[in-house]
Amino acid sequence: MAQLLDGKRFSKKILEEIKERCEKENLKPGLAVILVGNDPASSVYVRMKEKKCKELGFVSKGYKLDCETTEEELASLIKQLNNDPEIDGILLQLPLPPHLDSKRMLELISPEKDVDGFHPVNAGKLLTGQSAFVPCTPRGIVELLKEYSIELEGKNVVIIGRSNIVGKPLAILMLNENSTVTICHSRTKNLKNVCSKADILVAAIGKPYFVSGDFVKEGAIVVDVGVNRVDSVESGERLFGKGSEKVEKIKEKGYVLVGDVNFEEAYLKASYITPVPGGVGPLTIAMLMKNTLESHLKRVKK
Ligand code: NAP
Repeated sequence: MAQLLDGKRFSKKILEEIKERCEKENLKPGLAVILVGNDPASSVYVRMKEKKCKELGFVSKGYKLDCETTEEELASLIKQLNNDPEIDGILLQLPLPPHLDSKRMLELISPEKDVDGFHPVNAGKLLTGQSAFVPCTPRGIVELLKEYSIELEGKNVVIIGRSNIVGKPLAILMLNENSTVTICHSRTKNLKNVCSKADILVAAIGKPYFVSGDFVKEGAIVVDVGVNRVDSVESGERLFGKGSEKVEKIKEKGYVLVGDVNFEEAYLKASYITPVPGGVGPLTIAMLMKNTLESHLKRVKK
C-alpha cells in the first residue's frame, strides 16, 4: 500500500515560509489577477488566489471583466499592469471567452511579470536551460517529490498529457533532474504497456479514473494532476461502482472531485501516490505565490 504525498501539508509549510520571510524583510510582493467572464470554476480559482495573497500580506489586485470585453480593453489593462510598480506578477485566468485570443493576450504580459510561466520567452528559457518563471503545477510536482526525498535521477518517468501548462514543462523539468522521460498523449499506442514500465507515472489528462491499477508498476510513484468533477449518479456508478462512498457523495452534494487515476486500485500497487484533492492542487497555488515573491525579489534587488 502506498504512502500519501501530502501536497496540502507541504503547501502550508511553503506558504508559512513565504509569510515569515515577507514579514521579516518587510517585503510586499504584488499579484494582479484578471478574470474575464463568469466561468464558475475560474471564479473559485481566482477567489482562492486572492485569499492566499491577503493571508500572506501581498498586494492583491483583482480585475473582473465582463464577457463582452474586447481584446483592446484587455490589452490596455495588461499594459497598465506591466507598468504598475506595485505589481510583480500578472495572472490571466484561463480559459478566456472564445472571442479573445489567449495566446495573443498572454504574450502581452511582460515576461518579467509572467508568474504563471506561460509566456513564450519563459517557455523558451526553460527549454534552453536559462533561469525562467516555471509553470506552477509542474514546479509544484518536482518540489513535492523532492520534499519526500524521491530520487529522480535515472528514473523512468512517464507523463500522460502534453499540454503547455503541465505535460511539456514537467517533461523538461524532469529531464533537468536527469530522469528518462516519455510523454504520452491521445495517439500513443499501447499506452497501458508504456505506463506499466514507469518508475514515476504522472497523469495529466482530464479524464476521471482513466488510469486503472494495471497501468501501475508494483512500487511505482503515482502523481495525479487531474481534477475532474463528476456530477451525475449514472457516471458515478459506472466509474466508482453502485453504492460506493463517492456515489453517495454525488447524491448528497451533487458532485464529487476526483483525479485521472483510479485511486483505490493504484493505491494498492504504488509506493507513493498523490490524493485528489490534497495532492498537486494546493501546490499550484503555493508555487504561484513563490514565483510572485521571486519576481518581487528580482525587482527590489535591481
Ligand atoms: P489538456 O490541455 O486538456 O491536455 C490533456 C492531455 O491529455 C492532452 O495532451 C491529451 O492528448 C491527453 N489525453 C486525452 N485523452 C487521452 C487518452 N485517451 N489517452 C492518452 N492521453 C490522452 O489538460 P491540462 O490542462 O494539461 O490538464 C490535465 C488535467 O490536469 C485536467 O484535469 C486539469 O483540470 C488538471 N490540472 C490540474 C492542476 C492542478 O493544480 N491540480 C493544474 C492544471 C491542470 P492530445 O494532446 O493528443 O490531445
